[in-house]
Amino acid sequence: MEYTKVALVTGSTSGIGKAIALELAKLSYRVIINGASTKELSDKYRKILEHLYNENFSAKYLYVQADISKRSDREVMLTKIKQAFGRIDILVNNAGIPPTERKDLLEASEESFERVMKVNLQGPYFLTRDIAKWMIKLKKNLNQYNPIIINISSISSFTSSPNRGEYCISKAGMTMMTKLYADRLAEYEIPVYEIQPGIIKTRMTKVVEEKYNKLFEQGITPIKRWGLPEDVAKAVKAIVLGYIPYSTGDIIHIDGGFHLKRL
Ligand code: NAD
Repeated sequence: MEYTKVALVTGSTSGIGKAIALELAKLSYRVIINGASTKELSDKYRKILEHLYNENFSAKYLYVQADISKRSDREVMLTKIKQAFGRIDILVNNAGIPPTERKDLLEASEESFERVMKVNLQGPYFLTRDIAKWMIKLKKNLNQYNPIIINISSISSFTSSPNRGEYCISKAGMTMMTKLYADRLAEYEIPVYEIQPGIIKTRMTKVVEEKYNKLFEQGITPIKRWGLPEDVAKAVKAIVLGYIPYSTGDIIHIDGGFHLKRL
């Protein structure tokens, strides 16, 4: 098997990002796994990669600890990718955080707003700028090179949750970011897609598990179950395999039908 192509999945030490990174590894991508607080990948994670990649597995992935909200961390990450692999085919902007504390809109703090916006919007916005410029350069030099950018936003892009306004605004901003980059990069044939996950079982939703269990029972989604990180990873797989062609700036809903207006 050839391992030519390279994919960066931000925030891929757990949850949705991890499922996406592993799916891409299965598809023979060399993956850059990224997290903010993890110093090195756990043995368990490495074992899974070893199983997927087989021989010489440690040369086929790269773990980079980098806080995407920090410009210097993003620069270091890019340098490391260039040194290790010399190319980038797929960027998945997945890293994201909820507010540390859910607070009513009328009590919201500027500190939390700034933190959430930096990680969920400003970081991905400028990371995409830098990676897109690199992709444009690579386009001139590589044959059979079809780069793709995928943003993981949320149903919060269009759903009001007045106890975490900053999260909703950051995700709505990401939806505009998808449109902007899709428009700007179309001339270089770099498509930009957005996946809007619904309620997905991860560390992020662990604290509100009981609340959501009840909401599923009450029918908050037409498909009455939790979403899984693998559901999102399969959508990424469909995109990178080219099964959504002649398309850019599009939103794919992986939300059990949550976005439908119902009577
Ligand atoms: P998670 O907490 O399991 O994973 C978040 C990942 O992001 C981790 O790997 C973490 O290390 C990383 N991360 C956090 N801050 C970072 C930073 N500053 N720099 C780099 N990496 C950072 O959460 P998840 O549920 O898998 O969420 C992944 C993405 O999906 C987020 O953008 C989230 O907003 C979005 N999302 C989640 C749900 C859900 O229900 N879980 C729904 C819609 C959208």
